[in-house]
Amino acid sequence: MTPIGRSTDGGTTAQRTVLISGASIAGPALAYWLHRSGYAVTVVEKAGALRDGGYPVDVRGTATEVVRRMGILPRLREAHLDVRRCTFLDADGGEVASLSPRAVAGGAEGQDLEVRRGELAAILYALVRDDVEFLFGDSVDTLDQSGHGVDVTFRSGLRRTFGLVIGADGMHSHTRHSVFGPAERFHHYLGYCFAIFTMPNTFGLSGEVTVWNTPGRAAALHAVGEGEELHALLSFHRPQPPVEALRDPGARRDLIATVFAGAGWEVPGIVDAMGEADDVFFDTAGQIRMPHWSSGRVALVGDAAYAPSFLTGQGTSLALVGAYMLARALAAGRDHTAAFTAYERGLRGFVAMNQALVGNGAATLFPTTARDLERRNAMLRGLVTMPSATARPAHSALALPGFPPVR
Ligand SMILES: Cc1cc2nc3c(=O)[nH]c(=O)nc-3n(C[C@H](O)[C@H](O)[C@H](O)COP(=O)(O)OP(=O)(O)OC[C@H]3O[C@@H](n4cnc5c(N)ncnc54)[C@H](O)[C@@H]3O)c2cc1C
Repeated sequence: MTPIGRSTDGGTTAQRTVLISGASIAGPALAYWLHRSGYAVTVVEKAGALRDGGYPVDVRGTATEVVRRMGILPRLREAHLDVRRCTFLDADGGEVASLSPRAVAGGAEGQDLEVRRGELAAILYALVRDDVEFLFGDSVDTLDQSGHGVDVTFRSGLRRTFGLVIGADGMHSHTRHSVFGPAERFHHYLGYCFAIFTMPNTFGLSGEVTVWNTPGRAAALHAVGEGEELHALLSFHRPQPPVEALRDPGARRDLIATVFAGAGWEVPGIVDAMGEADDVFFDTAGQIRMPHWSSGRVALVGDAAYAPSFLTGQGTSLALVGAYMLARALAAGRDHTAAFTAYERGLRGFVAMNQALVGNGAATLFPTTARDLERRNAMLRGLVTMPSATARPAHSALALPGFPPVR
């Protein structure tokens, strides 16, 4: 299908053209809803193809309603990873507590979904690829806002003009950097670094998560299915972000080897496996907090605007709900300034509640002192004997409003 209003001469561009930067979760979800509202959508993705990999992600509460309205709930139910057990270990690998993952994270039994991140991205992409233009292996170089649109120069040299540009380019958003300023203004470091990668399942684990802790250090193995690879996580406390390790894989390897030297259980083998892995995702745990999510004709969605950090388990859900709320505001036919204001008004409270979950996540997964770890272990032992937990109110705090009919 030819997108509506696309300029072919590189000159004037209809107002209802949108460039989305980033094709992971927020980008394709937004593309779906904007296309449905009659926008001509182009998505540019820095990677040469859709990016696979990542730890399994959660779709919960209000976000489940978003995917239901997109018609992909049955597919996601099929892709759902049924994790039955979460076992916490002490320094020597002795069991502290073994309980339902929902007791730890506060999910809603039978409703919440946990899926491979790459699979969710692929399902969203499949939904829009015939209706939306994708430019893989390219990215925005410069953005120049004028009265009638945004003049965009791509790294490939391509030049185009769009009515709106939306940054869905994640935690380290280039769009945010170009339009709103350096990351330091908005990035709140939470004191942890983490590396995620896949490794062979030599432990015979299946449908379970195993978490090892000593003060300030954690290793976790997430076994999605029998015989399948394990998703491994190594996380550690660091008062300041390790700038060198974020830039240089060699420095990252050295830092992790030093931090986990002398660790018990299977940790030495996990550290070695990281050295062999070709899909290491290393980052700091942090949140993006911004006073505004738009400037002129440019707005942000998902992690680029309000990353809650993996400690909350809500990054993907916020991206899906945020995409819906932004598209809904634009679909209502208001001018973009009013639409961006409505988007923020409708979503800010929900984002704030979910970002506030970070305290719970850090205290449960990564206690940094021996005292906090002992307190956490006592809490987990208590949970074993308690009735299963109910969903956290923050997950469903937004009652999803209707989507305006297509005009
Ligand atoms: C490969 C990968 C693995 C991940 N693994 C985990 C994980 O294990 N645990 C976890 O909690 N979260 C993980 N995340 C982040 C998680 O997907 C997000 O927190 C959440 O789903 C919100 O999604 P998002 O679309 O807002 O941002 P993201 O998922 O971060 O997606 C941003 C997209 O923008 C693209 N991009 C970045 N810069 C540019 C640019 N300049 N121009 C064009 N495109 C650009 C990226 O390649 C990416 O596809 C991962 C993300 C990726 C991309």
